[in-house]
Amino acid sequence: MKDLWFDPGKCLLGGAWRPPAGGDSLPAIDPSEGREFARIARGGPTDVGAAVAAARAALAGEWGRATAAERGRALARLGRLVETRIEDLARLEARDVGKPLAQARADARALARYLEFYGGAADKLMGETIPYLAGYTAFTLREPHGVTGHIIPWNYPMQIIGRSVGAALAAGNACVLKPAEEASLTALAFAALAAEAGLPPGALNVVPGLGAEAGAALAAHPGIDHLSFTGSVATGRAIQTAAAANVVPVTLELGGKSPELVFDDADLEAALPFLVGPGIQNAGQTCSAAARILVQRGIHERVTAAMAARYRALRAGPALEDHDLGPLISARQKAIVEGYLARGRDLAVAGRGAIVAGAPAGGAYVAPVLFDAVPPEHALAREEIFGPVQVIIPFEDEEEAVAIANGTGYGLVAAVWTRDGARALRLARRLRAGQVFLNNYGAGGGVELPFGGTGLSGHGREKGFEALYGFTRLKTVAAHHG
Ligand code: ADP
Repeated sequence: MKDLWFDPGKCLLGGAWRPPAGGDSLPAIDPSEGREFARIARGGPTDVGAAVAAARAALAGEWGRATAAERGRALARLGRLVETRIEDLARLEARDVGKPLAQARADARALARYLEFYGGAADKLMGETIPYLAGYTAFTLREPHGVTGHIIPWNYPMQIIGRSVGAALAAGNACVLKPAEEASLTALAFAALAAEAGLPPGALNVVPGLGAEAGAALAAHPGIDHLSFTGSVATGRAIQTAAAANVVPVTLELGGKSPELVFDDADLEAALPFLVGPGIQNAGQTCSAAARILVQRGIHERVTAAMAARYRALRAGPALEDHDLGPLISARQKAIVEGYLARGRDLAVAGRGAIVAGAPAGGAYVAPVLFDAVPPEHALAREEIFGPVQVIIPFEDEEEAVAIANGTGYGLVAAVWTRDGARALRLARRLRAGQVFLNNYGAGGGVELPFGGTGLSGHGREKGFEALYGFTRLKTVAAHHG
């Protein structure tokens, strides 16, 4: 691919771009066409070892000695540099992930915003003094874990780098980043910008490669002090198991089956864009996708009709043409989603979008589908599909709505639409989710809002100031001075 400002066939190790020790590469496939458009490094255990050593050296050197304010300034500088490259990053991401250009731009802007946020927060992370025994002063220090490992997925590389690597660096850790084999380019592009912005060598190291090779090596490496993972439940289990062997903490963000609860008294005009948009954004390949729309019976027909009308207007097409949806990430993901659609054969289809005429035959396109009146126990109402599929589930009253909403193993995000303020607050407490939105769904992007799940959605919190606590460990100092 022309016009790259970095060599995707290399790893970034201690400030130097190096070919992987195995000398091998992997294809970067453009899912809009189903064709290879670049080669990326196939890193492995040796490269991971070098990355961990480089990160350790950075902690013993310039990066480890930097004050919190200096770390913050470095991140802010990097954020400003990212801002000047939004269009380049967005086009790269659109090709690599198949994400419509407007959504890729939003991701690049979010990356810049994360760096601005964590740059500003770096020197505001404080401990406490604790009232203790007579003659004592006790206080806490927030210290970085040390070397943090970041294993990220392909659906939102830039946003996840911003929230995870951004917060870890702000807190004073040195990072080893393993991007997903399906979409590594913006991670490498970002690392090149970090070097340009003057982030000290070794503070951020990147090893692209396969999950079973580079990913597994990073998760199991004894030099890693903390692991942050976003991805599937199965891989999350493997990573937590690997971390257990080294007794290191993990943050897991594993997806969901997030519900929106729409009551009879909701402002439907306000709700409608938030019912469809968060379901089909990034072709539904979003951990916090609004996968289940729970609708009170009195407005069931109206909501279904209005959502169906929107669905009929949805178009999936090549990412750079910027339609409502791009392709899915891969032929494999398309097959998974089509498998679910086949399992939904017995269900009523309320509305279906279309694939644009002339979309390349090799692209991983799936027309979005809205199912109606889906029984809560149906696989399509319980399992994470990770595709442009939403289900409408009618309910009678608040009790039933809560039972259905809380009835999957997941608990990431939920939303409530009602004009009854007391009900909104009551449900915010009762819903099993790490984030609850009242009369909105993810508006504003939520860089400032702590995010994470419960149950199969994982544990630990990223985003917001809270993430900084996760990327530090607390030391208590008790001084006896008489
Ligand atoms: P998906 O199945 O949607 O690709 P994964 O959870 O498998 O999602 O992938 C998310 C990230 O985890 C990717 O960077 C991938 O390379 C990595 N990964 C996959 N398997 C492992 C593993 N066994 N150990 C560590 N990382 C892994």
